[in-house]
Amino acid sequence: MRLTVLGGSAAGPNAGMACSGYLIESGTTRLVLDFGPGVLPELRRHTDFRLLSAIVISHMHLDHMLDLLALRHALAYNPRPAPAPIPLWLPPAGAAHLAQATAPFDTCDEPGRFGRAIEVNEYDPEIGLGIGDLRITFAPTIHYVPGYAMRIANSSGQSLGYTGDTGPTADLADFFTGVNILVAESTLIDGGSLPVQVRGSLTAAEAGELARNAGASVLVLTHMWEELGFANYRAGAAAAFPGRIELARPGLTIAVE
Ligand SMILES: [Zn+2]
Repeated sequence: MRLTVLGGSAAGPNAGMACSGYLIESGTTRLVLDFGPGVLPELRRHTDFRLLSAIVISHMHLDHMLDLLALRHALAYNPRPAPAPIPLWLPPAGAAHLAQATAPFDTCDEPGRFGRAIEVNEYDPEIGLGIGDLRITFAPTIHYVPGYAMRIANSSGQSLGYTGDTGPTADLADFFTGVNILVAESTLIDGGSLPVQVRGSLTAAEAGELARNAGASVLVLTHMWEELGFANYRAGAAAAFPGRIELARPGLTIAVE
Protein backbone atom coordinates (compact mmCIF):
# COMPACT_ATOMS: atom_id res chain seq x y z
CA MET A 1 0.00 0.00 0.00
CA ARG A 2 1.26 3.45 -0.82
CA LEU A 3 0.00 6.86 0.28
CA THR A 4 0.58 9.97 -1.82
CA VAL A 5 -0.52 13.24 -0.25
CA LEU A 6 -2.27 15.51 -2.74
CA GLY A 7 -2.95 18.36 -0.32
CA GLY A 8 -2.62 19.19 3.34
CA SER A 9 -4.30 22.56 3.76
CA ALA A 10 -7.09 23.35 6.21
CA ALA A 11 -10.30 25.14 5.18
CA GLY A 12 -8.54 27.17 2.48
CA PRO A 13 -5.52 26.35 0.32
CA ASN A 14 -2.07 27.34 1.53
CA ALA A 15 0.44 28.61 -1.05
CA GLY A 16 1.00 25.83 -3.58
CA MET A 17 -0.85 23.30 -1.43
CA ALA A 18 -4.27 21.84 -2.17
CA CYS A 19 -6.82 21.12 0.52
CA SER A 20 -7.59 17.55 1.58
CA GLY A 21 -6.84 14.79 -0.91
CA TYR A 22 -4.97 11.49 -0.51
CA LEU A 23 -4.15 8.91 -3.15
CA ILE A 24 -4.00 5.34 -1.85
CA GLU A 25 -2.59 2.69 -4.18
CA SER A 26 -2.58 -1.04 -3.54
CA GLY A 27 -1.95 -3.44 -6.39
CA THR A 28 -3.95 -2.05 -9.29
CA THR A 29 -6.43 -0.24 -7.01
CA ARG A 30 -6.23 3.56 -6.99
CA LEU A 31 -8.41 5.26 -4.43
CA VAL A 32 -8.62 8.96 -3.59
CA LEU A 33 -9.88 10.09 -0.21
CA ASP A 34 -11.42 13.58 -0.32
CA PHE A 35 -11.17 15.97 -3.25
CA GLY A 36 -10.71 19.53 -2.02
CA PRO A 37 -9.67 22.64 -3.98
CA GLY A 38 -6.43 22.03 -5.89
CA VAL A 39 -6.51 18.23 -5.64
CA LEU A 40 -7.12 17.56 -9.34
CA PRO A 41 -3.99 19.23 -10.73
CA GLU A 42 -1.85 17.55 -8.07
CA LEU A 43 -3.49 14.17 -8.74
CA ARG A 44 -2.60 14.49 -12.42
CA ARG A 45 1.09 14.64 -11.47
CA HIS A 46 0.88 11.13 -9.96
CA THR A 47 -1.63 9.06 -11.90
CA ASP A 48 -4.14 9.12 -14.75
CA PHE A 49 -7.21 10.77 -13.28
CA ARG A 50 -9.43 8.86 -15.71
CA LEU A 51 -8.50 5.53 -14.21
CA LEU A 52 -9.30 5.94 -10.52
CA SER A 53 -10.95 2.94 -8.89
CA ALA A 54 -13.05 5.27 -6.73
CA ILE A 55 -13.21 8.53 -4.80
CA VAL A 56 -14.53 8.54 -1.23
CA ILE A 57 -15.52 11.75 0.56
CA SER A 58 -15.33 12.04 4.36
CA HIS A 59 -17.83 14.89 4.69
CA MET A 60 -19.45 17.55 2.57
CA HIS A 61 -17.43 20.59 3.57
CA LEU A 62 -16.19 22.61 0.61
CA ASP A 63 -12.53 22.07 1.42
CA HIS A 64 -13.05 18.29 1.06
CA MET A 65 -15.07 18.15 -2.16
CA LEU A 66 -14.90 21.31 -4.30
CA ASP A 67 -12.62 19.85 -6.99
CA LEU A 68 -15.27 17.22 -7.74
CA LEU A 69 -16.81 19.98 -9.87
CA ALA A 70 -13.51 20.51 -11.66
CA LEU A 71 -13.09 16.76 -12.10
CA ARG A 72 -16.56 16.45 -13.59
CA HIS A 73 -15.79 19.15 -16.11
CA ALA A 74 -12.37 17.65 -16.89
CA LEU A 75 -13.86 14.22 -17.52
CA ALA A 76 -16.64 15.65 -19.66
CA TYR A 77 -14.41 17.71 -21.97
CA ASN A 78 -10.90 16.24 -21.91
CA PRO A 79 -9.95 15.14 -25.45
CA ARG A 80 -8.96 11.73 -24.09
CA PRO A 81 -12.13 10.28 -22.58
CA ALA A 82 -12.25 8.01 -19.56
CA PRO A 83 -13.14 4.39 -20.31
CA ALA A 84 -15.92 4.43 -17.72
CA PRO A 85 -17.53 6.79 -15.19
CA ILE A 86 -15.51 7.16 -11.99
CA PRO A 87 -17.34 5.78 -8.94
CA LEU A 88 -17.80 8.49 -6.34
CA TRP A 89 -18.87 7.56 -2.81
CA LEU A 90 -20.38 10.32 -0.71
CA PRO A 91 -21.55 10.23 2.91
CA PRO A 92 -25.29 9.77 3.56
CA ALA A 93 -27.27 12.69 2.09
CA GLY A 94 -24.19 13.76 0.13
CA ALA A 95 -25.75 13.17 -3.29
CA ALA A 96 -28.43 15.83 -2.78
CA HIS A 97 -25.79 18.22 -1.46
CA LEU A 98 -23.59 17.67 -4.53
CA ALA A 99 -26.58 17.98 -6.87
CA GLN A 100 -27.36 21.40 -5.42
CA ALA A 101 -23.75 22.48 -5.92
CA THR A 102 -23.62 21.30 -9.54
CA ALA A 103 -27.15 22.32 -10.59
CA PRO A 104 -26.18 25.71 -12.10
CA PHE A 105 -23.67 23.95 -14.39
CA ASP A 106 -25.91 21.10 -15.48
CA THR A 107 -27.48 23.30 -18.15
CA CYS A 108 -24.11 24.18 -19.67
CA ASP A 109 -24.11 21.41 -22.17
CA GLU A 110 -25.98 18.40 -23.49
CA PRO A 111 -28.14 16.68 -20.88
CA GLY A 112 -26.47 13.70 -19.23
CA ARG A 113 -22.90 14.56 -20.19
CA PHE A 114 -21.82 15.05 -16.62
CA GLY A 115 -23.69 11.99 -15.44
CA ARG A 116 -21.53 9.91 -17.72
CA ALA A 117 -18.36 11.28 -16.13
CA ILE A 118 -18.96 10.38 -12.49
CA GLU A 119 -21.16 7.70 -10.97
CA VAL A 120 -22.53 9.20 -7.76
CA ASN A 121 -23.22 6.85 -4.82
CA GLU A 122 -23.65 7.18 -1.07
CA TYR A 123 -21.93 4.78 1.30
CA ASP A 124 -23.55 3.20 4.31
CA PRO A 125 -21.10 3.83 7.19
CA GLU A 126 -22.42 0.76 9.01
CA ILE A 127 -21.56 -1.53 6.10
CA GLY A 128 -18.38 -0.05 4.66
CA LEU A 129 -17.01 -0.41 1.16
CA GLY A 130 -14.91 -2.79 -0.88
CA ILE A 131 -12.91 -1.04 -3.60
CA GLY A 132 -10.68 -3.44 -5.53
CA ASP A 133 -7.96 -4.62 -3.18
CA LEU A 134 -9.10 -2.27 -0.41
CA ARG A 135 -11.66 -2.57 2.34
CA ILE A 136 -12.93 0.65 3.92
CA THR A 137 -14.66 0.87 7.28
CA PHE A 138 -16.12 4.05 8.75
CA ALA A 139 -16.51 5.64 12.17
CA PRO A 140 -18.46 8.85 12.87
CA THR A 141 -16.47 11.92 13.79
CA ILE A 142 -17.42 14.94 15.88
CA HIS A 143 -17.50 17.86 13.48
CA TYR A 144 -19.77 20.70 12.40
CA VAL A 145 -21.54 18.53 9.83
CA PRO A 146 -21.85 14.73 9.75
CA GLY A 147 -18.47 13.24 8.90
CA TYR A 148 -16.68 9.92 8.88
CA ALA A 149 -13.20 8.71 9.69
CA MET A 150 -11.97 5.84 7.55
CA ARG A 151 -9.80 2.81 8.05
CA ILE A 152 -8.47 1.36 4.80
CA ALA A 153 -6.96 -2.13 4.74
CA ASN A 154 -5.59 -4.20 1.85
CA SER A 155 -5.52 -7.94 1.33
CA SER A 156 -1.98 -8.12 2.77
CA GLY A 157 -3.13 -6.71 6.09
CA GLN A 158 -1.59 -3.27 5.62
CA SER A 159 -3.72 -0.41 6.86
CA LEU A 160 -4.11 3.34 6.86
CA GLY A 161 -6.34 5.50 9.02
CA TYR A 162 -7.73 8.89 8.05
CA THR A 163 -9.53 11.03 10.58
CA GLY A 164 -11.43 13.23 8.13
CA ASP A 165 -12.26 16.29 10.22
CA THR A 166 -12.97 15.62 13.86
CA GLY A 167 -12.91 17.00 17.35
CA PRO A 168 -10.97 15.26 20.12
CA THR A 169 -13.94 13.63 21.80
CA ALA A 170 -14.76 11.30 18.89
CA ASP A 171 -12.82 8.50 20.61
CA LEU A 172 -11.21 7.10 17.46
CA ALA A 173 -8.20 5.37 19.06
CA ASP A 174 -9.83 1.92 19.10
CA PHE A 175 -11.00 2.33 15.52
CA PHE A 176 -7.45 3.10 14.41
CA THR A 177 -5.69 0.49 16.56
CA GLY A 178 -2.52 -0.79 14.89
CA VAL A 179 -2.73 1.18 11.64
CA ASN A 180 0.56 1.51 9.79
CA ILE A 181 -0.10 5.13 8.86
CA LEU A 182 -2.47 7.57 10.53
CA VAL A 183 -3.37 10.67 8.53
CA ALA A 184 -4.75 12.97 11.20
CA GLU A 185 -6.24 16.38 10.86
CA SER A 186 -4.49 18.92 13.07
CA THR A 187 -6.15 22.19 12.25
CA LEU A 188 -5.18 23.86 15.49
CA ILE A 189 -2.13 24.57 17.61
CA ASP A 190 -4.20 25.87 20.48
CA GLY A 191 -7.62 24.42 21.33
CA GLY A 192 -9.13 27.88 21.78
CA SER A 193 -12.10 28.76 23.93
CA LEU A 194 -14.71 26.33 22.55
CA PRO A 195 -15.64 23.59 25.04
CA VAL A 196 -13.72 20.48 24.06
CA GLN A 197 -16.94 18.46 23.76
CA VAL A 198 -18.20 20.58 20.89
CA ARG A 199 -14.91 21.44 19.22
CA GLY A 200 -14.82 19.95 15.73
CA SER A 201 -11.08 20.01 15.05
CA LEU A 202 -7.94 18.56 16.62
CA THR A 203 -4.85 20.31 17.85
CA ALA A 204 -1.52 18.88 16.70
CA ALA A 205 -0.98 17.56 20.22
CA GLU A 206 -4.34 15.79 20.14
CA ALA A 207 -3.45 14.27 16.77
CA GLY A 208 -0.23 13.03 18.36
CA GLU A 209 -2.14 11.56 21.30
CA LEU A 210 -4.50 9.79 18.95
CA ALA A 211 -1.60 8.28 17.00
CA ARG A 212 0.10 7.17 20.21
CA ASN A 213 -3.07 5.64 21.66
CA ALA A 214 -3.80 3.84 18.40
CA GLY A 215 -0.24 2.49 18.19
CA ALA A 216 0.27 3.94 14.69
CA SER A 217 3.72 3.60 13.15
CA VAL A 218 3.68 6.85 11.18
CA LEU A 219 1.67 10.00 11.84
CA VAL A 220 0.93 12.34 8.94
CA LEU A 221 -0.34 15.70 10.15
CA THR A 222 -2.72 17.38 7.75
CA HIS A 223 -5.44 20.05 7.45
CA MET A 224 -3.02 22.79 8.53
CA TRP A 225 -2.84 26.56 8.17
CA GLU A 226 0.51 27.91 7.05
CA GLU A 227 -0.21 31.03 9.10
CA LEU A 228 0.09 28.96 12.27
CA GLY A 229 3.60 27.77 11.36
CA PHE A 230 4.33 24.23 10.18
CA ALA A 231 7.11 23.84 12.75
CA ASN A 232 4.57 24.46 15.49
CA TYR A 233 2.41 21.62 14.23
CA ARG A 234 5.33 19.22 14.29
CA ALA A 235 6.39 20.30 17.76
CA GLY A 236 2.87 19.96 19.11
CA ALA A 237 2.50 16.43 17.80
CA ALA A 238 6.01 15.38 18.82
CA ALA A 239 5.24 16.24 22.42
CA ALA A 240 2.66 13.45 22.42
CA PHE A 241 3.81 10.97 19.77
CA PRO A 242 7.28 9.42 19.85
CA GLY A 243 7.16 7.83 16.37
CA ARG A 244 7.78 9.14 12.87
CA ILE A 245 5.91 12.35 12.09
CA GLU A 246 5.42 13.77 8.62
CA LEU A 247 3.73 17.02 7.63
CA ALA A 248 1.34 16.58 4.71
CA ARG A 249 2.63 18.28 1.56
CA PRO A 250 1.73 17.71 -2.08
CA GLY A 251 3.65 14.76 -3.47
CA LEU A 252 4.71 13.29 -0.14
CA THR A 253 4.71 9.53 -0.68
CA ILE A 254 4.89 6.93 2.07
CA ALA A 255 5.04 3.22 1.32
CA VAL A 256 3.73 0.71 3.83
CA GLU A 257 6.37 -2.02 3.78
ZN1 LIG B 1 -14.76 19.98 7.73
